[in-house]
Amino acid sequence: GIPRRGIRGNFVPPIRSNGGNVGNTTSRIAGKSDDALDDSTKKCLEMLYGPDGELPEKLRNLEPRLIEHISNEIMERDPNVRWDDIAGLEHAKKCVTEMVIWPLLRPDIFKGCRSPGRGLLLFGPPGTGKTMIGKAIAGEAKATFFYISASSLTSKWIGEGEKLVRALFGVASCRQPAVIFVDEIDSLLSQRKSEGEHESSRRLKTQFLIEMEGFDSGSEQILLIGATNRPQELDEAARRRLTKRLYIPLPSSEARAWIIRNLLEKDGLFKLSKEDIDAICKLTEGYSGSDMKNLVKDASMGPLREALRQGIEITKLKKEDMKPVTLKDFEDALQEVRPSVSLNELGTYDEWNKQFGSLA
Ligand code: ADP
Repeated sequence: GIPRRGIRGNFVPPIRSNGGNVGNTTSRIAGKSDDALDDSTKKCLEMLYGPDGELPEKLRNLEPRLIEHISNEIMERDPNVRWDDIAGLEHAKKCVTEMVIWPLLRPDIFKGCRSPGRGLLLFGPPGTGKTMIGKAIAGEAKATFFYISASSLTSKWIGEGEKLVRALFGVASCRQPAVIFVDEIDSLLSQRKSEGEHESSRRLKTQFLIEMEGFDSGSEQILLIGATNRPQELDEAARRRLTKRLYIPLPSSEARAWIIRNLLEKDGLFKLSKEDIDAICKLTEGYSGSDMKNLVKDASMGPLREALRQGIEITKLKKEDMKPVTLKDFEDALQEVRPSVSLNELGTYDEWNKQFGSLA
């Protein structure tokens, strides 16, 4: 079978079944006999054991079902995104490499004066590659990637968000180096103190800041990445902890061209001329990366629709019956797929970037 991996990917000897380390430890944390835990919970717990088969101290007071949720839903073993998958954003990639990836790879060099910030904010319009960058960081730095959407903490985990946050940071610290990516971080660390701000969401925010403080001061190799398309909602405390703040803008014309080519080439559908590409880039000013993806998807349906219009049945359709994707297909798709970000919003990002962004 697949060798079991422990913290930092080192080999973990199989847990002894005589003596029953797993059983003992899980019972200790769950207050249940080992039999009362289902298999996947056991598996998650096992994965987090140290080489001695003992559950790390930090996890002992956490509920197994939360650990299980984190291991199954939040932790990604192989995020599978590389720098080369991300179009444009050269500047952001360079900053992130220096600020984040090198320190994660070489903690011995990046200490003292060189010790890195533990909080990074990626802000900008939706669909511009912020999540991709988070995943790529984890991939390039060989770190465990944890993805959580802050709005799910407040909506899905009502009343339990605090516990989940604690469990999240606990598991992350057992799986170092780790990258915790918090999407829509504004909804967690918002400055808006609405009249009816729930006690629970205030507590959640406090808990979160405490956890951040905890690993910020220590020697732990955990990086927190917050992503937001509403940076102006973040309060001073949040900004202070997210020391690096990178603007992730809409893709340039070159980046849009790259996305089109990359997606079509993957499927062997790329036959556009340089002129066609230039024309499409002109027409897609203001489109985000994710708008571009949707546009390519729609355009790539063109040749299929065309073939069906000519009376070929879908069940009898051969690949050769379909023409390559053309400029006309893109022009049609442009009618369907509109840009999702308004000029107005872009102004807000520029302003916030001038005031709080890390590198102008
Ligand atoms: P965000 O987190 O900024 O809202 P994502 O990183 O989730 O956006 O991007 C959504 C999708 O849009 C990605 O899965 C990818 O297909 C596409 N995309 C966005 N930005 C880029 C980019 N810079 N390069 C390549 N694809 C991109």
